[in-house]
Amino acid sequence: MSVADEIKSRLDIVQYISKTVPLKRAGSGRWKAPCPFHHEKTPSFLVDENRQTWRCFGACATGGDIFNYVMKQNGWTFHEALEALAKEAGIDLKPQSPEAKARDQEVDRLRGLLKVVADYYHELLKQPEAREVLKYARKKRGLTEATIDQFGIGYAPDGWRYALDMLLNLGYTEDDAVNAGVASKNDSGRVYDRFRNRLIIPIRDERGRVAGFGARALAAEDNPKYLNSPQSALFDKGRLLFGLDLAAKSIRDSGTAVIVEGYLDAIQAHQAGYTNVVAQMGTALTEMQLKLIAPKWAKKIILALDSDAAGQNATKRSVEVARETLQYSDSGTLAIDIRVLAVPGGKRPG
Ligand SMILES: [Zn+2]
Repeated sequence: MSVADEIKSRLDIVQYISKTVPLKRAGSGRWKAPCPFHHEKTPSFLVDENRQTWRCFGACATGGDIFNYVMKQNGWTFHEALEALAKEAGIDLKPQSPEAKARDQEVDRLRGLLKVVADYYHELLKQPEAREVLKYARKKRGLTEATIDQFGIGYAPDGWRYALDMLLNLGYTEDDAVNAGVASKNDSGRVYDRFRNRLIIPIRDERGRVAGFGARALAAEDNPKYLNSPQSALFDKGRLLFGLDLAAKSIRDSGTAVIVEGYLDAIQAHQAGYTNVVAQMGTALTEMQLKLIAPKWAKKIILALDSDAAGQNATKRSVEVARETLQYSDSGTLAIDIRVLAVPGGKRPG
């Protein structure tokens, strides 16, 4: 049996698709829903449980097995779909060295830690003690309750061991907290919370897994104003686009991605209904960031970066990276349409 067949034997297409599509029973062994790949009111997307296939009888007029589904859903190649589904099915594609396996397991474990911390900070923002911080997020940042929940925005209290003690109680070590980037260690070996008295914005990867945090100072005298998780195997800024987990569908549907500079800009855009917006969180776009969205999903990229001098330089570099990274068509023109949108008014409110 081939690996692909083994994966198919282990995964049920109805179960798999229904994780993201609200399938309704339509006769024995048949399920249907509005097509996830095109807009429609009358469901023409059918999944056949017995054959383990799907088909859109509407605008897409296409279908296939679970592999074709995952490829279309994510804009992936067969190999990328194979990797993702193998993982889903619990199948090891190639035997890993024990060291590589241990490393992967360690990263997964620390991802679990980050999720716990993100939930903890989010919960703290809802406590009576954080009333003023919540007010700041709502009034000063203009964020709604729904947005705060959707992005999991949180509060790191003003103290040295809030997250740390919570983690130790769960059986994590001080080193775990340091390695995951939520605690720091000073020269004398004392370990303490990295984020103190800050509004916390969890930064997720394209699959929605917490990779790190962005944190905005709440007291005017605190520097820096924005503090991120340190660079690590978990948090690699050059490989992350903030908001992509929430923006992916909209980018895929519209074929257009809008890239802004900061995560709060992206959050506010989503709240205003512009759900194809992501943030680059750095100075200039990297090749890795671009490849997360183009050409597989976005055919058009709009760079909406600050129009101050630093922003303009970053934009220029970003456009250069894009030109070097993205494919050229046969006629020698860029296959991706890149536009630069000057944000009027210069500096955004810090
Ligand atoms: Zn369709």
